[in-house]
Amino acid sequence: MYKHALKGGIRTAKQAWKLKNELGKLNLELAKANSDFEQHLCEAARITQSCAPPANNRPLLLLKTQGDNSKSSSHNSSSTAACSIVANHYRTAVNPRSVLDKTVKPVFRAESCHLNALIPSKQFVKVQKQFYRDFSSVSLGSSLKNSDAPLLGDLCSQYRAILAHTSADVVPGEDRHRAQCNYQQKRRSHQHNHSREEQLEQEKMAQKAQFERLPTNVVPRHYELLLQPDLEEFTFTGKTVVQVQVKEPTSQITLNALDITIDSVELDYECTKLKPEKIVYSVENETATLEFGKEIPNDTAGVLRMSFTGELNDKMKGFYRSKYFGPNGEERYAGVTQFEATDARRCFPCWDEPAIKATFDITLVVPKDRVALSNMPVMKEDALPDGLRRVRFDRTPIMSTYLVAVVVGEYDYVEGKSDDGVIVRVFTPVGKREQGTFALEVATKVLPYYKDYFNIAYPLPKMDLIAISDFSAGAMENWGLVTYRETFVLVDPKNTSLMRKQSIALTVGHEIAHQWFGNLVTMEWWTHLWLNEGYASFVEFLCVHHLFPEYDIWTQFVTDMYTRALELDSLKNSHPIEVPVGHPSEIDEIFDEISYNKGASVIRMLHDYIGEDDFRKGMNLYLTRHQYGNTCTEDLWTALQEASSKKVADVMSSWTQHKGFPVVSVEQEQQGPKKRVLRLKQCKFTADGSEAEEDCLWTVPISVSTSKNPTGIAKTFLLDKPSMEVVLENVEENDWIKINPGTVGYYRTRYSSDMLEQLMPAVARMELPPLDRLGLIDDMFAMVQAGHASTADVLALVDAYRNETNYTVWTAITNSLTNLHILISHTDLMDHFHRFGRNLYEPVAQRLGWEPRDGENHLDTLLRSLVLTRLVSFRSDEVIDSARARFRSHVTGTNPLPADLRTTCYKAVLQDGDEKVFEEMLNLYRNTDLHEEQDRISRALGCCSDVKLLRRVIDFAMSGEVRAQDSVFVIVAVAINPKGRDMAWEFFKENNKQLLERYQGGFLLSRLIKYLIENFATEERAREVEEFFKANHIPGCERTVSQAVETIRLNAAWLKRDKLALSAFLEQN
Ligand SMILES: [Zn+2]
Repeated sequence: MYKHALKGGIRTAKQAWKLKNELGKLNLELAKANSDFEQHLCEAARITQSCAPPANNRPLLLLKTQGDNSKSSSHNSSSTAACSIVANHYRTAVNPRSVLDKTVKPVFRAESCHLNALIPSKQFVKVQKQFYRDFSSVSLGSSLKNSDAPLLGDLCSQYRAILAHTSADVVPGEDRHRAQCNYQQKRRSHQHNHSREEQLEQEKMAQKAQFERLPTNVVPRHYELLLQPDLEEFTFTGKTVVQVQVKEPTSQITLNALDITIDSVELDYECTKLKPEKIVYSVENETATLEFGKEIPNDTAGVLRMSFTGELNDKMKGFYRSKYFGPNGEERYAGVTQFEATDARRCFPCWDEPAIKATFDITLVVPKDRVALSNMPVMKEDALPDGLRRVRFDRTPIMSTYLVAVVVGEYDYVEGKSDDGVIVRVFTPVGKREQGTFALEVATKVLPYYKDYFNIAYPLPKMDLIAISDFSAGAMENWGLVTYRETFVLVDPKNTSLMRKQSIALTVGHEIAHQWFGNLVTMEWWTHLWLNEGYASFVEFLCVHHLFPEYDIWTQFVTDMYTRALELDSLKNSHPIEVPVGHPSEIDEIFDEISYNKGASVIRMLHDYIGEDDFRKGMNLYLTRHQYGNTCTEDLWTALQEASSKKVADVMSSWTQHKGFPVVSVEQEQQGPKKRVLRLKQCKFTADGSEAEEDCLWTVPISVSTSKNPTGIAKTFLLDKPSMEVVLENVEENDWIKINPGTVGYYRTRYSSDMLEQLMPAVARMELPPLDRLGLIDDMFAMVQAGHASTADVLALVDAYRNETNYTVWTAITNSLTNLHILISHTDLMDHFHRFGRNLYEPVAQRLGWEPRDGENHLDTLLRSLVLTRLVSFRSDEVIDSARARFRSHVTGTNPLPADLRTTCYKAVLQDGDEKVFEEMLNLYRNTDLHEEQDRISRALGCCSDVKLLRRVIDFAMSGEVRAQDSVFVIVAVAINPKGRDMAWEFFKENNKQLLERYQGGFLLSRLIKYLIENFATEERAREVEEFFKANHIPGCERTVSQAVETIRLNAAWLKRDKLALSAFLEQN
């Protein structure tokens, strides 16, 4: 997947519900609210308890639809139909925790009875029906606009009695036992006065320990899969015929299924036809176990037939619906799949683990006027009655389930062919065919590039790229059918900025790299996800550098990937690249900047360490050796080690297994006229400058350059001890030394003051190459944050960058000053800081001007918008006036703004704009259908200064006018504006339930939370935030909250330490 892997969906809603439920059950007030009703249940329980069958013999049955709960006799049926379960309802009911919900109530005793036998009460049935109605409206994809739908958590509190009883019905024996053990444990911990948090933690731990991968006694070889979506009713039906191999005698088959209803099952082998006696679902493990009641012998080849139905959900995962507009503006829907990491199981019952590979014959039944796509080309099409058509696709190679894809909708496309004969198509919204041209050009060139690079041909006959209107991640590498967010693939020549075009090239390069690295060779388990993502995030730069050398993309790697990774990885709450993960909710959490950015950064370091030729040889060895198979991190090291004869595994293990990275401190001593001795020390770098808790040692490949040859390498060596001495020959007294030339090593450098003094003039003269100027300033700001240097001193050094010309170096300076800007927003120094900023940025702005020059280089175009936007926020009157004038002629149509400068001008008018300006911007938003332009306008809205208008921006973000996938970014724009900071946080506190319901936990919400809170700078705020999230737990955001709270405390310490000196410096400069 592409970074911005925005996760969200029902799974986290389930957790939300569960946790909410746990908290709710301790809430006696809520209990009181239901007490009358429960009293009634208790009565019923006492009367009927003696007739209850033992819990673990009860069949699995839940009322499939409202009102059929009178059929209590069916609970003994073993027919498959009786096993059928509406998975969504089941999910609510089965949770063992909801059994616990009743632990403080006498009604708990009643749970060993079957619901219908137990409570024939009309009142119960009535409430239960109401519950199912309400539950459908919260969980079954009610429109996002329908924000008054009840929250899952509230609903579950309200219907505690119903949940407890239905769960008793369906909890399988073992889970039930566990639930009771948990109950006992909980009772005990109550007695020991443990805190509620500790209990939750204990249960979470217990839950983690329970996760198991699928059994390997039965494995699939080949799936036939038929899917028929109903694009009006938002449901789908499906059939699958799986050729399975029974490897050990067994009477049951366990596979993954979630939120789908398995309607029928039949297993055929050696003239035997078996139907399961029951299907046992585990919502916790997202599995279904087919229990056949008869042993299937080993070494049996069988055919497993299943039919199923599901909802075409609106959660952007599994098989979901994506909204678009028809020619007359009417709402229409496409059916789209997004399976990574573990959501194929929401579409069809399958062995949904990356290592359980199989081949697939996919068939779609769709309305005859819709485009139907899948991984492989169409093999055959037939017309069916009722305006339908059946599309059969060719057989796929052996592959993992998370890479299976289908799309059904209305699209136009452009087509091309790569040099080596692969058909490439880019599908766009209807009428926007030409917007696919750029991606087509990139993709057709990228395929042969990788073919040469890996020395392995692309294994499929076609490659489709498609723009999807509702898409949570940036892009997804489904084999042969890559899906993209519209802004990550469509280029409108008049309205697309250069920056966007560049990221589209990178995204296309990333996804196509996965076709080999990820699809052909796949990680054995999600613990090794970083291999896929780190590698693709590295190689996308390699390929864009090859296709567009003018982008100078490698220098941008450092600001886009490397420094962002260092920033996050210096926190105590970071994590190692390689994380043992089990349950899907843990897997979702690791699609983060550590897997992508740090992963790519350490691979870049390794690439540099072993050299391009050996790296390539090693890659070929790895991909050839493991093609169509699965690997662990060590397999890659082995191949690269064989190719390079260097100790790859030894060097790399410290980088993948420890969290964080070292800071290398260097001191020097000149010995004689031509000899310099360097003394190096490594220790773990911590953002707050404290001593590291753990004792870590890295094997650091170090290189050094000197003023004799600034672009060459004077010496390389491995620092694998806490400290060492190195001698450099041919270095004279006045020569400077630069550690980590090219900013390739994943570490920070701390120079002695004499070494730094020698380096700074080389910066001012631009003798040091751009990446070294960049690395130096970034390291210096990190030292400031950690309290190893003073802000005022580093700002004085920034002066050496006044003549800087390189875009990427300016990006690094800007990033550091933006952090400082946030700190200063908590003081009264803002006007002084603005003056400092204007002085720093004005010379480069004057050099560039507003108008692009003919044949101007790519980076200058990017630099212009960067610098002018900064000057807008530093309140440069000249720039603001000019921007306003340009905006006027843009709006009137006399002189449209180039896309690269629109953000600058939008911000200039909005910054001090009134309601009229605000409305004008909204009109612009409403008059464009280009997603990119909508993004640009809606994110600029956050820079208004008027808090009332900022509040309107938030309302706008939450209105149906902004797609759910985008509204988080609009609120973030408000939150990072110091004027909107407190209001946005208040908004969040008041509306956190609504937001949780909207985003169902997950990545989008984590991102919002990060920006809402990390810019505070007082201990009081840190505590407030901590307490808020303790009381309002948001599943999947735990790590983000701890990271952000850590950042608040860093800000507070930084301000306390440096405020006086900073104020003295800014007042003088
Ligand atoms: Zn990826």
